[in-house]
Amino acid sequence: MAIVSQFVPAPPHPFADLDRLGDEIAELSAHLDAATARLLALIREFDARGGWNTGFSSCAAWLGWRVGLDLGAARERVRVARALGTLPRLAEALACGEISYAKVRALTRVATPETETRLLAVGRAGTAAHIERIVRGWRRMDRQAEARQATRQHADRGLHVYADEEGTVVLRGRLAPEVGALLIRALDAARETLYQRARVTAGASPPDPTMAAPTRAQQQADALALLAETALHHGIDPGAPGERYQVVVHVDAPALADPDEPGQSVLEDGTRVSAETSRRLACDASRVVMRHDLDGRVVEVAARTRTIPPALRRALHHRDRGCRFPGCGRRFVQGHHIRHWAQGGPTTLSNLALLCRRHHRAVHEEGYQLDRQPDGELRFRSPDGQLLPEVPRAPEVHGDPVNFLRARHDAEGLVLHARTATPGWLGERLDVGWAIDVLHPLATRN
Ligand SMILES: [Zn+2]
Ligand SMILES: [Zn+2]
Repeated sequence: MAIVSQFVPAPPHPFADLDRLGDEIAELSAHLDAATARLLALIREFDARGGWNTGFSSCAAWLGWRVGLDLGAARERVRVARALGTLPRLAEALACGEISYAKVRALTRVATPETETRLLAVGRAGTAAHIERIVRGWRRMDRQAEARQATRQHADRGLHVYADEEGTVVLRGRLAPEVGALLIRALDAARETLYQRARVTAGASPPDPTMAAPTRAQQQADALALLAETALHHGIDPGAPGERYQVVVHVDAPALADPDEPGQSVLEDGTRVSAETSRRLACDASRVVMRHDLDGRVVEVAARTRTIPPALRRALHHRDRGCRFPGCGRRFVQGHHIRHWAQGGPTTLSNLALLCRRHHRAVHEEGYQLDRQPDGELRFRSPDGQLLPEVPRAPEVHGDPVNFLRARHDAEGLVLHARTATPGWLGERLDVGWAIDVLHPLATRN
């Protein structure tokens, strides 16, 4: 890089110059913190507008790929960027170089719009170490308050089921949040199934004008009925996780080989899925080949086989380790046939690559392309044909970046100097317990 030559270490400073050197470090750090505020504002907007949603699973994954941050640091940037969106005072203090990124990172773990001003005062007064300790104490207080709340919610759970005078059964209840989420997910799934069934029957017969579309509340009631029916029919057993998420697809061989070919791709319950989805599910699955005669009767059922045999899968995991999509590397992966087995693609190491669920979908259903170069390297392209490099080229830095930062901050009228970020602390002992009692809104002593 061209800029390296400008940073050859200067000859040792004479002792008297050390103060000046320290001031320079402090001033440049304030400039960097001010620039970090700008960087976080850009990340916040990029994240909110979904700029990363081009095959990446999250804004942090994109940052890791594009900027070269490790995933932990990238997640932290995104977290702080989002938090500062609702904490304007902390954001401004960072933008003025008044408190460091390290302090803002710590404070955003606990700050809310209500407590921001108090915590900013702590940030201005204390050293980074003080703030770490205060934030730890603060979280302890938050956790105690949360634990009290969770205990209360659990104790308050209840479901009342009774019949009114006409015999209509009335429900009223309170569920803890995670149990409620489970119920909502189950109701959603049941509603979806009922909706699919309704579509199938509506397609078969002309619509009945006397039947008004059910309201949301009526749909929920129907969904609950289906849940009850299903639970009694299958026995009340949550099952092993593998069984719970197992998906069975029935697909016609021609449709699997060529998505443009007409043919059936249906889930066990009759729900249709796209041919490309069935190709994805078949990429790495157990396979049972059945032959039907012209009347649709099954005449032959072959033994169940894995599309990727266990020994080959071990070799594949050993070679690829994680998802091969640029910037991903996730460990929960599926085997992908670069050329699908239904099209005659061989199940060999060179025709296989590991992809996570998200990127397996990207390659099958979202138009991302993947091929293997003669030298064995994988090459990914986005749907518009652009190459997705494993590591993007770093932008070129022109001139002295420090002068660039200074000039930019000067132009914004931001005055930064060696004392900008100096805490107000004068060396007194920090009493964390007392500080939390005074500062935390839920502190009981006060
Ligand atoms: Zn695949
Ligand atoms: Zn992936």
